Amino acid sequence: MQARDGHARAGHLRTAHGEVETPVFMPVGTQASVKALSGGDLEALGARIILGNTYHLALRPGPELIARLGGLHAFQSWRGAILTDSGGYQVFSLRGRRTLDDDGVTFQSHLDGSLQRFTPEGVMGIQRALASDVAMVLDECPPSDAPPEQVRAAMERTTRWARRCVEAERAPGQLRFGIVQGGTDVALRLEHLQAIGELPFEGLALGGLGVGEPPPVMHAVLAAVVPRMPEDRPRYLMGVGTPIDLLAGIEAGIDMFDCVMPTRNARNGQLFVRTGRLNIANAVHRDDPRPVEEGCPCEACRRYTRAYLAHLFRAKELTYYRLATLHNLQHYLDLVRAARSAILEGRLAAYLQERRAALAQDESTVDSRQSTV
Ligand SMILES: [Zn+2]
Repeated sequence: MQARDGHARAGHLRTAHGEVETPVFMPVGTQASVKALSGGDLEALGARIILGNTYHLALRPGPELIARLGGLHAFQSWRGAILTDSGGYQVFSLRGRRTLDDDGVTFQSHLDGSLQRFTPEGVMGIQRALASDVAMVLDECPPSDAPPEQVRAAMERTTRWARRCVEAERAPGQLRFGIVQGGTDVALRLEHLQAIGELPFEGLALGGLGVGEPPPVMHAVLAAVVPRMPEDRPRYLMGVGTPIDLLAGIEAGIDMFDCVMPTRNARNGQLFVRTGRLNIANAVHRDDPRPVEEGCPCEACRRYTRAYLAHLFRAKELTYYRLATLHNLQHYLDLVRAARSAILEGRLAAYLQERRAALAQDESTVDSRQSTV
């Protein structure tokens, strides 16, 4: 740990592909690609660690092919670190197309309908073949509205599976992270944290948050649970969230984040700015000569106007997807990097206050107000 400010931490994650400064945001590269970007684009953004999705890569092109071509780093020509999820979240999202038993889960591929099976040992084997830097255990992620008995059953199964995952062989230098479930019940979360924390994982993740519960509920869980996580291991909040969620996570002591929001929303026309989000499809942007965000160092803002991006979006020009994705990832990476600097300088409270005040203006209302002018 390099520095601490309140519960927030600044540190390093040491991987086989370099040291990553934390807190860190990890762009999501589901199918061995951060959609619309090249590895060079990601390097220019200063991304040091990205995500790959075990579920998608297992189905296509398959772990054997990637292993033959030298592993996921060589396959996608990425020199930085890669974290692979276990595929559990995707499989459990396939409601009605999967059957769960104590040994694993059988599901229908979304690509060709073929029957597939994931077991704890199986997904560790896939991640070993992919040779990612951080492998995640297979967990059971219950829906946000699951009753307490179901949440508890999922916790217990996740613990049994985690024990099997730590027995599995791993790739050289690969780190393994355990996943803490427990829904939005703080007592259940702490109970599961105790069970997973006892296992020899190099890092611990919180799963099953940001799955539909109201943001203040999630923020309360983070504030109650994260400071009780082991201090000597990285803490990863999986799949979350909005800029406000990231600030709440950092304040509580989270070190690592990933989310599809910046990349997916970019493709849908939603661009993140300090005061919230703007919708590039909105008529008000059609002849706006300003960049998306004044002072943003991304290529889209250094070189192009909102008017141009609005035109590209309407015309469905492929360049739009790259520029919008660059901007949104720049926004997310900078938000977290600036928080890191604030922690190192002991001024996180002021930083959080400034960012939250800007976001309190709620860009969705700013945007609609502008469009009526
Ligand atoms: Zn920008």
